[in-house]
Amino acid sequence: MLKGKTALVTGSTSGIGLGIAKALAAQGANVMLNGFGDVEAAKAEVAAFGVRVGYHGADMSQPGQIEAMVQACEAEFGAVDVLVNNAGIQHVAPVESFPVDRWDAIIAINLSSVFHATRAALPGMKARGWGRIINVASVHGLVASAQKSAYVAAKHGVVGLTKVVALETATTPVTCNAICPGWVLTPLVQKQVDARAVAEGVSVEEAKKRLLSEKEPSQQFTTPEELGAMAVFMCSPAAANLRGTAINMDGGWVAQ
Ligand code: NAD
Repeated sequence: MLKGKTALVTGSTSGIGLGIAKALAAQGANVMLNGFGDVEAAKAEVAAFGVRVGYHGADMSQPGQIEAMVQACEAEFGAVDVLVNNAGIQHVAPVESFPVDRWDAIIAINLSSVFHATRAALPGMKARGWGRIINVASVHGLVASAQKSAYVAAKHGVVGLTKVVALETATTPVTCNAICPGWVLTPLVQKQVDARAVAEGVSVEEAKKRLLSEKEPSQQFTTPEELGAMAVFMCSPAAANLRGTAINMDGGWVAQ
């Protein structure tokens, strides 16, 4: 379905971003990866689908590097047809002791990067007459949890920005939507599971159960594969008029 198209997926060396990159590659899209860590392993996983794979090491807290990444993707692949704004970090602390540098980093990486990548990629999408912007927000773009002030503020911002971009592109063949996952067992969440196991003196398995039972009625983690399938749907002809949505895939979290 996406043969000949190029997807740029931020934060795609791990977790949800890698899952979405693989799902888009499985549909034939060439992919430019971004993020830190084991880049070669991520490239190999995506290349296994027989598509062209590139990589750009832009730090998503740096507007100039984000712009350079979009330009590099256009230069190397001829386009950014699908932009998946996924890179994100977390820090958990009460608001009065929340480290200021963590606040600034979360707002920059989880929210401002979405603005910078979108503004850089949108003109090319409009000129070529097709585009999909998919923002990986969170249930925390729709509801809050204690100790996550920066993350909740950033993700609510992403949902708001998604709506604005959808309105500004409403008469064009470019769409913009958000996906709002509940708990997904990636390195970002594993850190929270491990911290909970230590704090409560329980096993990692018990900490996972406690985490899920607090918020997620299905008691199941959403998987990167399921989120990848939603991204593929958002790129499909059936989703041509899906605009400005924030679709929660959260085991019933925000239905409560
Ligand atoms: P992860 O830690 O597995 O992956 C994060 C990715 O972002 C990695 O590739 C990492 O290298 C990259 N990254 C981090 N900082 C970066 C920076 N400054 N510049 C470029 N890349 C950077 O986490 P994940 O759980 O897969 O999270 C992906 C997205 O999904 C995030 O936006 C997160 O907020 C969101 N999300 C996650 C969950 C969950 O339960 N895991 C739930 C809802 C939303």
